[in-house]
Formats: sequence, structure tokens, C-alpha cells
Amino acid sequence: MEQTLGTAARPLRVAIIGAGPAAFYAVDALFKQPNLLCQVDMFNRFPTPYGLVREGVAPDHESIKTVTRVYDKTATNPNFRYFGNVTFGKDVHLDELLPLYDQIIYAVGAQSDRRMGIPGEDLAGSYPATIFVGWYNGHPDYRDLTFDLSCERVAVVGNGNVAMDVARILVTDPEALAATDIADHALQALRQSKVKEVYLLGRRGPVQASFTNPELKEFGELEGVDVVVDPRDLELDPASEEALLTDKNATRNVTTLRRYLENTEYTRPRKVFFKFLTSPVEVFGKDGRVSGLKVERNRLEVQNDGTLRAKGTGQTEVLDVGLIFRSVGYRGVALNGVPFDEKTGTIPNVAGRVINLATGEQQAGQYVVGWAKRGPSGIIGTNKPDSLSTVQSMVADLAEMPGIADSKRDRALIEQLLKDKGLDYVTFPDWQVLNEHEIGLGKAQNRPRVKCTRVDEMLEIIRQRATPQS
Ligand code: NAP
Repeated sequence: MEQTLGTAARPLRVAIIGAGPAAFYAVDALFKQPNLLCQVDMFNRFPTPYGLVREGVAPDHESIKTVTRVYDKTATNPNFRYFGNVTFGKDVHLDELLPLYDQIIYAVGAQSDRRMGIPGEDLAGSYPATIFVGWYNGHPDYRDLTFDLSCERVAVVGNGNVAMDVARILVTDPEALAATDIADHALQALRQSKVKEVYLLGRRGPVQASFTNPELKEFGELEGVDVVVDPRDLELDPASEEALLTDKNATRNVTTLRRYLENTEYTRPRKVFFKFLTSPVEVFGKDGRVSGLKVERNRLEVQNDGTLRAKGTGQTEVLDVGLIFRSVGYRGVALNGVPFDEKTGTIPNVAGRVINLATGEQQAGQYVVGWAKRGPSGIIGTNKPDSLSTVQSMVADLAEMPGIADSKRDRALIEQLLKDKGLDYVTFPDWQVLNEHEIGLGKAQNRPRVKCTRVDEMLEIIRQRATPQS
């Protein structure tokens, strides 16, 4: 009779695709399951792990990044292995992993962005905020982009924390950013920037904004920056007033915005204009480039379900901006051979178990965590309970699971497969070599690190001091 899965005789073999917070929390939860022996192999597209902690969290939010210490601790478990620089769907395929792993977890996040759906959106100078974020954070895909920062006014569309990050980076004194791990190419460009005014556009009111209060308060603490709020936006409708009774973050935000109203001097060199109840309706262009943004004033309308929706009033104005960043949410991208829900941009699942969207049937042994599971919402810590709930589903399924053939349980098989394919994969010790290198460069400049932003260079640095993975 076959041994139970997850015992010393038959350790549970798990592959996890992605190396962001949701992935590491899932690994941690697996290792912490009582009476479960589990071997986890993590596959990641880039040599560098940590996903949005490295490529998304703003450079001036250094303390948030210390969360990687927890992930590094998880990675010390001898049953954990990391295979960086391996792209699922390109370098390795689902049908190659299925015979080698009892369970597979998708932790791929949301790799694309939502669109505004308005004319002129694709003109040069109108970009998804996500690629600007990737650019200043040294994401290898975006490091060679150039953003023309020679205009004085920029619009950032959306009222989430990403919009706040983008607006803040645009108006922060570059010399303050010079002490962070911002990508060198971005620092250089921001030092030449002529941007003086940023319009932050929220289609609904301040009570409905999804940014959090610490992010809002940061603007008031920025050197050389005035925060400008339209007093009309703080005359709240009854439904918004009522929402304040139960929404602590919104209450704090309204208090902070009212405090910003007290400043009426506006003498500082850079300004952030919070424009609520304002929707973009058309991007104007000149010679193929953004030359302005037509916006419409909204009012709020209560829906049948009690939510408040923005409704145009017909009252429009044109903002004289040369750059637009749309920050209206991330969106998932389908993985080859894996079910995908086009409507939500997520992998369809029930409690983390991947299902076939048409039949509702569970895809045996396949699971999902993080943004790929629930959509792009929540802070880093939200992923901890989210990943745990998927792991609980995985454990509950074990009793009914035959598991892979014993002849395929050898941990060396995947390494052999990757080597046979000629893949130059990066192990966790390899990453630590690169990590030390970046931190070393940073020390010399009084910065947390200087990021390496090209995959080729990363591999070169690693290969100079390669150590085998046990
Ligand atoms: P988000 O919080 O979902 O915000 C998206 C914003 O876009 C909302 O204000 C939304 O308004 C607006 N929007 C959507 N469609 C629009 C349209 N067609 N026209 C105008 N506005 C539109 O998303 P996010 O900012 O991308 O952030 C993603 C997640 O990462 C969030 O959970 C966020 O908190 C988190 N994050 C956290 C931090 C941090 O902790 N410091 C930093 C960055 C990101 P409606 O509300 O009206 O839909």
C-alpha cells in the first residue's frame, strides 16, 4: 500500500510559481503545518525574488521592505529550493511540472493593468502607472523606458495607494530619493524633471478614496510641496457622511484633507492638487503626444446595493498636462494551460482550489494565492491569511490525492530537466550573492542598496561567485 502523502517516506512535493509575498507566506504556512513533511520548489521569472516588495513598493518606503527578512527565514528551510530566472509557460510548462509535483500553487500576482477606456488613452505620454512604478524600482522589463519629464504638469488618474506613490515620487526632491534604493536611471531622470504640479484625480469623493491615511499624510510632510484641496470636495453628501460613521480610514482621510485646507499660501515650488469627483473623459494630443486631459465633474449616486457611483454632471474642463499616468488598478494575465477568468482577471478558484470556469470542476492538485486568487487588493500582510487559507485547502485535499509516481519523487529530476533545457537557473544562495553585491554598492553611497536592473548583469555577478544549492 502507498504511504500517505506528506510523511517522511513520501514527502509532499509542491511547486510554487512566483516569488512574491503570497508565495513566501504559502511556503511558510506549508512548513508550519503539523505532521506534514513538505518539499517546496519555487520558480520565478527573474533571478531576484520578492515580487512587488522589490518591484512595487516605493523606494522611500524602505521599512515596508524589511518584511523580506521573514521570507529569508523561510528560505533557510532545507526543504525549500529556489529556481529563479525560470519562466513558467516559456522555460518550463505545466505538463512538465505536473508529473513531478503533487501540488502546484500559482502565486503570479497581476502582471498587467486596467484601462480607462477613453479616447486618446494610447497617445505617447499616457502610461499605466504600473510601468512607471516598475521603471523607478528597477524592474528589468521597464528599465530601458524613458519618460519625458520636461512638462510642468502631470495627471495621475485613480485614488489608490499606487496613485499616491506615483504622485509622491514625481514631487519629492530627488536628493531625498538619492538616499533610497530607487533605480539609478530613474534618479537621473527625476533630477532633470521639470514637473511642478501633479493632479491626483479621483472619480468619486474623498470618503470613497481607496488610499490609506499614512500615504495621504506623507504629502503634508514633503519638503517644498503644497497640497491643494478643493473645499467643494469636502462638502460631503449625506451618504458619504453616513459612511464616515463606520469607516475609520475615510474619517482620518477627511480630517487630513480638511487640515490641508488650512494652508492657503501655496508658496512652495511643487504642488499636488487633489481633485475628487473628477473623471477623465478624453486625452488630447499634439503631434502624437499628450497635450491635455479633458475631465468631467461628477456627483455621487446611490446604487440599489447601497454603494455610491460617480455620475458625470456634464461640467468639463481641460487640464494642461503633458503626461498622464493611469493608476486604475492592476490586472492578471492568463498563464498557458491554466484556467483564467477574463472578467475578473484572476485564476478561478474556490478557497484557493483552481477550478475550470466552464464546468466548475476542480483542477486536481492546482491552487492559487495572492492577487491571482482574489484580484489586486490589500496590503502585503493581507497575503498571509489568504495564503494560509489556500494551504488549508491543500492539506484537506491530501487524503483523497493519489500523488505522483514514486519514480518521479527524486528532487534531482527537476534540476536535471532545467539543465537539459540549458536553463541558467538561479538558486537562493545565488540570489544572496547578488543581494550582498547590491547592498555593498549601496553602503558606499549611504543607500540601502544599488539595484542591478538587467538580468544579464545579475547573472554575471552571480556567476562570478556561484555556489551550488544543496
Ligand atoms: P486600488 O486601491 O484598487 O485603486 C484603484 C483606483 O482606481 C480607485 O480609486 C478606483 O476608483 C480608481 N478607478 C478605477 N477605474 C477607474 C476609472 N475608469 N476612472 C477613474 N478612476 C478609476 O488599486 P491600486 O492603487 O492599484 O493598489 C492596488 C493594491 O495595492 C491596493 O490594495 C493598495 O492598497 C495596495 N498598495 C499598497 C501600498 C501601501 O501599502 N503603501 C502601496 C501601493 C499599493 P473607484 O474606487 O471609484 O473604483
